[in-house]
Amino acid sequence: MIGGLAAALLPAVSKSSVVWFGSSGRVRNMAPGASPLVQIEAHGRGSIATVDLPEQHYVGFYERTANSVLWPLLHSRTDLTRGTDADFRSYCDMNAFMARTLAAFAGPESSFWVHDYHFFTLGRELRRLGINREIGFFLHTPWASRAVMMQLPQCRELVEAILDYDLIGFQTPEARDNFADLLRHELRLAGHNFTYKTRRGTCRLAVHPISIDAQLFADHAQKAAGDSDVKRLRASLAGENLIVGVDRIDYSKGLTQRLRALDLLLDRNPDLKRRLCMLQIAVPSRTTIDTYRALQQGVAAAVADINGRHGEVDWSPIRYLTKSFCQSTLAGIYRAAAVGLVTPLQDGMNLVAKEYVAAQNPNNPGVLVLSRFAGAAHELDAALLVDPNDTEDVAGALATALTMSNAERRERWQHMMDGLLRRSIHVWFSEFMDELKCGRRGTVRHPARTLAPRPALQANAGRPSSAATIFGVPRSNF
Ligand code: UDP
Repeated sequence: MIGGLAAALLPAVSKSSVVWFGSSGRVRNMAPGASPLVQIEAHGRGSIATVDLPEQHYVGFYERTANSVLWPLLHSRTDLTRGTDADFRSYCDMNAFMARTLAAFAGPESSFWVHDYHFFTLGRELRRLGINREIGFFLHTPWASRAVMMQLPQCRELVEAILDYDLIGFQTPEARDNFADLLRHELRLAGHNFTYKTRRGTCRLAVHPISIDAQLFADHAQKAAGDSDVKRLRASLAGENLIVGVDRIDYSKGLTQRLRALDLLLDRNPDLKRRLCMLQIAVPSRTTIDTYRALQQGVAAAVADINGRHGEVDWSPIRYLTKSFCQSTLAGIYRAAAVGLVTPLQDGMNLVAKEYVAAQNPNNPGVLVLSRFAGAAHELDAALLVDPNDTEDVAGALATALTMSNAERRERWQHMMDGLLRRSIHVWFSEFMDELKCGRRGTVRHPARTLAPRPALQANAGRPSSAATIFGVPRSNF
């Protein structure tokens, strides 16, 4: 499986001539000052450059600060944070390592676009190396309220570092407003129109909700009719309505709450037995972290309990798979499902919700049941929006979805699909880059345009000269 960040960005990389620079997913014992080897491979019109990470900073950076402090805080789970100041220093050291590697690799004309909460301090490190080109940042997760974020002991240091970016993109107005609130009350920074004067220059906050290539997903879904997994799934349904859930196993995804809602639905409507089944694809993630391992066991136990109580000798309500599928097969699975059940407790965006919509058959679309706390709920407002903590609400929406008329399903779907086609990942990509560059030149924002082609790169030797360089973490289970 590729994570949401990679899934979203890979189509953009392949269509625009940029270099995606990130971690290889491997760690290596490195002497201080040793030069890391950058591997480059072509990806459509763009390229992907990867580097191994220094082992000595890895645990403090990845397992602790990024995924046991920042991730829970950003998702308002202060009860789950585990980390020390030494871990935070490893996080900063890893960001400094990446900055040095990136600066040595990039050409003098490169622009930079840093992605996600692993690399909040990378911009500051690039500035320390004397890079004065435009540097943007995009946060794929929520940004929690000031009261929550201030529980991070190094919050002020972190936010001051983030201000070294020229442009900070958020998924939703709430995330941007929470960040602005922190600037106003903790750093006493009053901006105008979300633009702030900083020690270095200016920093602008903007809302750029990420999307998918909806047309590509629709094409995948049509072709997937011939996919063997999809064919077997369809053949096995025997008149049952399929409800599908696709998630990483993460406490932000609301998996146990969702299962309780299905339990309640079956308790209240025993006639639904054999007339529905739920396929939950639950891909284990961050399995070196105790909280995630415990959650994985908890979800598996809840599934076994529901299947044990509601199942019959020839029918089980839940099919539970902890393996991942490629996106073209997923598209066919989404299309086979009468209901897409996407109920995170907090989610920056949630791409599965958008993919489910894009994959539907226009003549007989399924119904999306979506958490109002997913960033996607802003755009997918024709879904059945629910409070994921409210079991009654989710069970009620499932019952509504299963009996909705074709006319209503088509109307809701068309509205959402039109929006997805209008605001594709490619529009998102060029609009952000446009705002980053125009902002730096002090010009007014222009309509979206595509990036200029980049000269070809050779493995381990190329240096992008005038291209935008995006920086992220490809292909690993971040
Ligand atoms: N995904 C996948 N194979 C799977 C399960 C998920 O490729 O078996 C992809 C899915 O298509 C989506 C991404 O993983 O693009 C999950 O992104 P989302 O924003 O929903 O959640 P995240 O995991 O980033 O929190």
